[in-house]
Parts: sequence; C-alpha cells; structure tokens
Amino acid sequence: MGGLSDREDALEELSHPQGGPDLPAHSPVLAGVAAKLVRRAGRDHELVAVAEGALHTVDLHLHRAGENDEPLILGGVEMGRRRRAPGAVGALHHEQLWGPLDEADHLAREGVVKLVCHRAEYGTGVALRCLYTDLDGTLLGRFGNLFGDAEGNFSRSPALMLEACHRAGVEVVIMSGRREAQVNSDSRLIGQTSYIYEAGCAMVIDRERTYLTGEWVPDSSGAPADRIVASGLPDRLFESFRPRLEWHAPWHEGRELSLLFRGRVDVDEVNALIAEREDGTGLRFLDNGAINRRMPGIDVPHAYHLVPGGASKGRAVGAHMRARGYLPEECIAAGDSIEDLGAADYVGRFFCVANGPENDEPLREAVAGLSNVTVTEGRMGDGVYEAVVTTLAAR
Ligand SMILES: [Mg+2]
Repeated sequence: MGGLSDREDALEELSHPQGGPDLPAHSPVLAGVAAKLVRRAGRDHELVAVAEGALHTVDLHLHRAGENDEPLILGGVEMGRRRRAPGAVGALHHEQLWGPLDEADHLAREGVVKLVCHRAEYGTGVALRCLYTDLDGTLLGRFGNLFGDAEGNFSRSPALMLEACHRAGVEVVIMSGRREAQVNSDSRLIGQTSYIYEAGCAMVIDRERTYLTGEWVPDSSGAPADRIVASGLPDRLFESFRPRLEWHAPWHEGRELSLLFRGRVDVDEVNALIAEREDGTGLRFLDNGAINRRMPGIDVPHAYHLVPGGASKGRAVGAHMRARGYLPEECIAAGDSIEDLGAADYVGRFFCVANGPENDEPLREAVAGLSNVTVTEGRMGDGVYEAVVTTLAAR
C-alpha cells in the first residue's frame, strides 16, 4: 500500500514550511494531516510532524489501525526541545492525539505543518505483549520521580506510555535493583502484578515468588544477603577499592538476596578478586548504571550489586517470559545500564534510553555491538515512551 512516490506526493501536498498561527499540540489539524499521510503512505511508518514557524515541534506516531483504515487512532507527543524549533517552548509539554481518519481531508487543508515520514525499521508484525523496564535512570526521572524528566521538569510521558500499554494490552514488568518492598509498591502504583527485584535475584508473578539465585535462598541460616556480609567479603572489597567503593546508603539496608554498593570501579577487577576467595563462589559483581549521587573524585558514580547464584536481570526477564509464554518478538525491554542490556539476549528489541550511554563508555561500546538495540532520542521516561509508541506504531 503506497509506494515512495505516493509518499513524496503526500509530503509535497501537505508541506507548508512558512508556517501559520501557533499550533497547540492537541490541534486536530495535526491529527488530521497525519491521518491523511498514513492513508497515502501505508501503515509501516512512523510519522513525525514538524510545525514549521510555530512554537511547537510535534511527533505523531501511528498508534493502531483497523483492518480497513478506519478507525485510525493517532498518538502524538510534543517534544519542544528535541528537534529544531526556533523559539521553542521552554518546558516540555506533552499531549496525546486521538482522531478518526474520516476527519482528515478538511483538516489537512488547514495544514500549517510539514510532515516527515520515517520508516520504522524494527517492525515485526507481531503484537507487543510485554515491556520490561528498569526504574532508576529509565522509567523514573530525576530523583526517582515517576512524573519527572531527566532535568526535573514535570513529565507526562510515563503516564502516556502506561496508557498506550493499557490500550494495547501490553504488560509492564519492572526489572529493578531495588528491594522487594519498593518494587512491589511501584508495580502496584502502575497497575501491574509482575515484577523483578534485587537485580534479577527474584521475581513475583501474581503474588507468586520465584527465587532465581540457585542454592542461595533464605533458610534457617538467614537471608543470602546477611550470609554474604557475614563472610567478610564486603569488607575485603572495601579494603581493596575504597574510596572508590562504598555502601549505597541508605538503600543498601534491608536487602534479602543481594548487596548494593556505589562508586566507580572496574567490574572485571572486582570479580577477579571475588573469584580468588572461597566465599566468593557463585557471586557476581555487576554494574547497574549511573546514579545521581556525588562522590569525591568520581565523575559519574554507578550503582553496583553483588548477586548470588548466577542471578541477572536478563535471566529474570527470560524466566518471566517462559512463565507467561511470551515469545522474544512479543517483548521489548528498556534500560540504562550494562546490566539492563542483558535483557537484549531474551527480548526482540532492547531500548537503551539516551542518558545511559551519554556518560558510560563501556555501555556505548556494548550497545554498538548489538543489532537488536536502539538508543532512544529521549532520556529516561521520555525514552521509554518513545520505545513503546514507536514499537506499537511499527506493528
Ligand atoms: Mg537504571
């Protein structure tokens, strides 16, 4: 449906680069113009509408289409500072657009926008069923705020993302290094019944818990986290790596399965030290990404976990997929760290939010070597929104 020339014709007809009146992001004009282009160009495209000369820059994504073009639903979001837009609005302000195709023609004639058509290269034609998302540095904005962006401004992106998932029947599974009480609460807040906590050491599905730490489970001798501390291994790590490694206080307390540190160290070096020790058997030190915390002499501190029994976020994602019966092409994941990137071994596509690679050279290198990884334009929650909407648009 619709070849390249059709699209070019549509672009030519619908382009009005000299602009017009200021155009609110929720204007039906944008929805209508985009709908007309979709009808001309086919459904396997992401649509980006740029309001030339106006204050706004707007992305429009084909969200869902019926069998015969109607009804066509469009979702859109204004990203004022993301693309060229002289005099762009100072703060991000998001609006979602929903409009039926049959309104397109007369609305298109009012067009004050130029439409650009991008092919979505990661379409599979298979319905999306599950999103696995990290919390800190990914779904959550600055200071762990669900409704904050990377700069601390109010952001509706997470709500719009969750709405899109709800409409499309997509499960949203948090995969976090946080301890269970936090992840359980966060998961309930977004209306979900599955979650992965302590960096993949365990998962809960519909209130049923599964430990993913092999022999390392809570028993009469205590919790694995307490047993690791009692072994003296953390003290040994501090002796070797202080002041570049310390507890991630206060979040290191109350953990059951894994230990939590912060700092900036060579992960391979730490794991080599652990491997030399008898009490280090089965333990792995992992990088869970940059944190918004200052430490003297360290540019960008990271959070690190010490996990037992071969646990990882990626393995937990795989376990959850098997339990739910999800295929790789039915799943995507979003994250901002090397550890999150392990999920790319299991899901069809992994979205690395833009802030992740910005200050993390190893992550940049790792991402470059994987064909099923997309680095989003948006940072943190804006990036997760982008991951979901572009994936839905492509299917
Ligand atoms: Mg993170």
